[in-house]
Amino acid sequence: AQYQIYDVKKPRYVRVNTLKMDVETAMFELGKENAVQKDDMIPDLLVLPPGTDLHNHPLVTDGSVFMQGKASCMVAVALGPKPGWEVIDACAAPGNKTVHVAALMKGEGKIVACELNKDRVKRLEHTAKLAGATNVEVLHEDFLNLNPKDQLYSKVRAILLDPSCSGSGTVADRLDYLLPSHTSGDGGDESRLVKLAAFQKKALIHALSFPSVERVAYSTCSVHQIENEDVVKSVLPVAASYGFQLSTPFPQWARRGLPVVEGSQHLLRTDPVEDKEGFFIALFTRNATHIPETF
Ligand code: SAM
Repeated sequence: AQYQIYDVKKPRYVRVNTLKMDVETAMFELGKENAVQKDDMIPDLLVLPPGTDLHNHPLVTDGSVFMQGKASCMVAVALGPKPGWEVIDACAAPGNKTVHVAALMKGEGKIVACELNKDRVKRLEHTAKLAGATNVEVLHEDFLNLNPKDQLYSKVRAILLDPSCSGSGTVADRLDYLLPSHTSGDGGDESRLVKLAAFQKKALIHALSFPSVERVAYSTCSVHQIENEDVVKSVLPVAASYGFQLSTPFPQWARRGLPVVEGSQHLLRTDPVEDKEGFFIALFTRNATHIPETF
């Protein structure tokens, strides 16, 4: 029962898994028992009244829709993968964003979904299967061990990097964030945040080093500057040397990064109170023609 806590004022967001069902059909089915609206920003995202319990709804249990918050859905949309692309989801489990990417790619192309933790690999495999995302290749590996020079990754055009973080921006409505590593006070003591930030920075630099990558979306569900703007600030010189710049995901979204880094207006934040979840997104892009030859 201690895991049944959720903020009843928070709208219930549902992402339609377009690999299995179209938005109109999902609206019709969910609308039989609930008031349903389309989100004004994210295609395929539906908004239901706060407190709507869909955990055992047949559309949820058969993977036609996923209960996924708005901010979480922004990440794959910001990444903007196209059908037929090769993509890496660097820190993928439980796979909500992986299967969203798969849906945006209409199941065409390839997604390498990399996950370090063995138990979470099983959850990732389950999510991909449930979603019918047949173009997902699950890889039980440390993302930092993937060799950017390996021919296997020579055509990867986009990387989604949603690394382990303090989880400090997320309301305790998910089992994930009630695990001990996510529950320490404001999201973790200083040394834990420093360690997380060191990994986040390393993983982001690694993502930017893949030779054909044009788009890297970095995200956290943390409110801490050290895991967000500071990570971006520390990689900017390397990113620039690889030909990357910051792009602006969802320009219509008012809440941007803290003004502690050049280009903070490109960064996206959501607020844990106002938006009901604290998330952060940075989008790095470069034109294929600007990829350095000396790579
Ligand atoms: N993107 C996922 C989603 O939306 O469902 C959530 C990802 S969660 C925030 C971070 C994941 O990264 C965890 O499952 C963790 O085990 C994994 N991870 C941490 N370090 C990693 C590494 N070096 N290589 C690959 N995965 C890693």
